[in-house]
Amino acid sequence: MGRSGRHRTGIPIGVPEANSALVARLREQLGDEVDGLENALATEPVVSIRVNPNKWSGPQNTEPVPWCGTGHYLAERPAFTFDPLLHAGAYYVQEASSMLLEQAVLASGLANERIAALDLCAAPGGKSTHLRSLLHADTLLVSNEIDPKRATVLQENLWKWGAANSMVTCAAPQRYAHLQEVFDLVVVDAPCSGEGMFRKDAFAREQWKPALVKQCSAMQHDALEHAWNCLRPGGMLIYSTCTWEIEENEAQVAALMARGGHTIAIPTLPEWGMHRTSRHGIDAVRCYPHRVRGEGSFIALLRKAGERTGHAVPRNTQEVTGTAPWLLPSRAWNLIEMNAQQFAIDATWSAMVERIRSAVPTWSSGVPYAERKGITWRPHPGLAFAQDLDRSRFHSIPLDHTQAITMLRGNALSTSDARGAGLATYQDVPLGWLQGAGDRWNNRWPAAWRIRSARPSAPLVSWSA
Ligand code: SAM
Repeated sequence: MGRSGRHRTGIPIGVPEANSALVARLREQLGDEVDGLENALATEPVVSIRVNPNKWSGPQNTEPVPWCGTGHYLAERPAFTFDPLLHAGAYYVQEASSMLLEQAVLASGLANERIAALDLCAAPGGKSTHLRSLLHADTLLVSNEIDPKRATVLQENLWKWGAANSMVTCAAPQRYAHLQEVFDLVVVDAPCSGEGMFRKDAFAREQWKPALVKQCSAMQHDALEHAWNCLRPGGMLIYSTCTWEIEENEAQVAALMARGGHTIAIPTLPEWGMHRTSRHGIDAVRCYPHRVRGEGSFIALLRKAGERTGHAVPRNTQEVTGTAPWLLPSRAWNLIEMNAQQFAIDATWSAMVERIRSAVPTWSSGVPYAERKGITWRPHPGLAFAQDLDRSRFHSIPLDHTQAITMLRGNALSTSDARGAGLATYQDVPLGWLQGAGDRWNNRWPAAWRIRSARPSAPLVSWSA
């Protein structure tokens, strides 16, 4: 190993002593394979996306990510920002190893049930949007994030994904202490020392030091403690990180086993290249980029002891209190008001939603339906993306690429005779609201979501090439 921060191929992290400490730890796990890992870390990261099957059939002529039915590898990184389909929630840019969540969810046996699920460390929303595609449409998914700035992005991504039964909360894991034994499935994609992201993220390299591992493992222990308490007897917990540290991975899972959990095998095929780990008596999966076509990660599935009987919270206990004519009558909707916004909740989850709202700071519950404009209500920007939107209620205005980018920059579209309100679409996927003003369409694309870069810094996407 080199003595400086940069080895011949290198894990070029900031401080030379930290570099040798890290390489020694990795050598302990991998033996001489560590050289292969170092070589892999010096190459470009793999680019992949996960498609939202409710909105888009996906790109043509791409290679599938073998462990994820909606995952696609791309040959190069295009200018995603200039693709209106990204802004419409038609896909999510996500590195491939994290998509292994799919195999864990399938192994949990909960994908087809109507359950209450919690994603405790959820921003920016990669795992939550994936869970939304994997879990039953009637499952209530609560996506929580401790950091308000990151929770804003999480909320945007979940709104754009468009599923009905989603909540966004912004709280430290301790706040969930009031929701003991409520959730059937809890996902903890924990903050970690980030070794698996070294190829993608220069900051992860810069900040790595042995003390960070200690700090992260304390945070993980705390998050898992609360997550475990929120889990119903017989419920499932998925724990993942993007680091290779044993203290942050196997040791954390072993602590849950000491509390009566046991790991359940996440099925993998040998050709995927994943490494099965049995340290500390657990059964879990590790990804290393010299073996797997993706970044570094760890994932485990645990079952809590006990029987999962009935529903955690009585369902169907609340009267339907509103009508939601902009939504399909696919379910009974309850309208609730929060911070000058209306949200439409599946009435069967109303009691649970109330319980969660009273325990944890809640930003969004169900479908973002309307926002206050003076003394009236107008369609919420997030409603445009909702899968349950009744499109027949709105006049559709198809946009070409140039028009869509103009709109996504927040600019008006020149036209003749634009009147009333309309739903802008791109390739028939809803994008947002337009308001006619004679010779132009004004738009209501939120300022925070606007494209700000002047021009693409990479080739534009070409999904059918
Ligand atoms: N699951 C996300 C996804 O797939 O997009 C990524 C989650 S990221 C690995 C970990 C998240 O935990 C970050 O958003 C971070 O803000 C949050 N976090 C930071 N400190 C935390 C703490 N002490 N307890 C819980 N979450 C924390």
